[in-house]
Amino acid sequence: MKQKAIYPGTFDPVTNGHVDIITRAANIFPELIVAVATNKAKKPYLPLDTRIRLLQEAVGHLSGVQILGFDNLLIDFVLEQNAGIILRGLRAVSDFEYEFQLAGMNRKLSKQVETLFLTPSENLMFLSSTLVREIAALHGDISPFVPDSVVNELLKRQKEHELQK
Ligand code: ADP
Repeated sequence: MKQKAIYPGTFDPVTNGHVDIITRAANIFPELIVAVATNKAKKPYLPLDTRIRLLQEAVGHLSGVQILGFDNLLIDFVLEQNAGIILRGLRAVSDFEYEFQLAGMNRKLSKQVETLFLTPSENLMFLSSTLVREIAALHGDISPFVPDSVVNELLKRQKEHELQK
């Protein structure tokens, strides 16, 4: 049970930073669930099923990796799945304070679950889904930062959006 890890996030959209963390984690854990938060409060740009499909296309081939959506409390989802580990990615210092608070709170909610952190390759440290969405909205080239299927999906949505104007 302790070998099963959950990597939660919004993945709006999945970036090469996420793919880097998932690839590293898939080499460590026999079972890894990438848990995609509905996160209605954050009003995601992409619907949940699209975020799941893009992850499936990017990392679905990795052995032991499963992609699931969830809309309950993370710790409840982790316990429901019989997992013992929450995995998070850590970028530069900016992530630390929030992640430290989150890990502390999750430990208060369940002592059976540990939070572990992985860092990505140096060249992905600066990358976030928010920046990718902003670059795409201003017609910048996002292809160095995301899987090809994400480039195509964002371009398609942008064209549809511009036709509606
Ligand atoms: P964000 O926190 O940017 O809205 P997510 O919720 O999708 O993104 O992130 C899920 C997890 O992946 C978080 O732990 C986040 O810190 C981590 N992460 C996001 N981008 C990167 C990256 N470029 N490198 C490493 N970890 C990342």
